[in-house]
Amino acid sequence: MLKFSRNQIICLVLLLTIIANFAFSNFSFAGPVPKCANPLWLWPVQPKIIVKDYDPPEQKWLAGHRGVDLLSSEAGIILAPDNGIISFSGIVALKPVVTVKINGLKSTFEPAATILPIGTPVSRGMPIAKVISPDTYINHCEPAICLHWGIKNEEDIYFDPKDYADAKGPIVVLEIR
Ligand SMILES: [Zn+2]
Repeated sequence: MLKFSRNQIICLVLLLTIIANFAFSNFSFAGPVPKCANPLWLWPVQPKIIVKDYDPPEQKWLAGHRGVDLLSSEAGIILAPDNGIISFSGIVALKPVVTVKINGLKSTFEPAATILPIGTPVSRGMPIAKVISPDTYINHCEPAICLHWGIKNEEDIYFDPKDYADAKGPIVVLEIR
């Protein structure tokens, strides 16, 4: 009969926990992704250069920055961070917004437009929308052109996209404003 030391058993349990977590995060579509979940989402704009970082308000009703601004360009391509569906496309507070629902969370992109109808399934890494010309809205990132990426749940609670997206490689935060 095999005998394991206490340390070996602890290691085995940890390994099984990691495998179970990986399997669930891959295949479960119920509920929000916990922080540090694996596999992480792709950055919707490549390369990832943050012009303005996430800065949540202390209270829900106060001002803050409920997302990250990624350096982009006019008509810059927006990639699906993971498998999901187009759940909204339209104007919100005078800005064109595209929303992709992924794993129970809403990934919102602005200013953005898509030709994909609501309900279209999208796959990880697929080009899903484009950044709209800054002539048509008040530019959130003067003098740069950026894509604002927000992640929120059904209760409109926002999360830091950096906790969801793949953190491999450098994350440049320019803060040019
Ligand atoms: Zn922003």
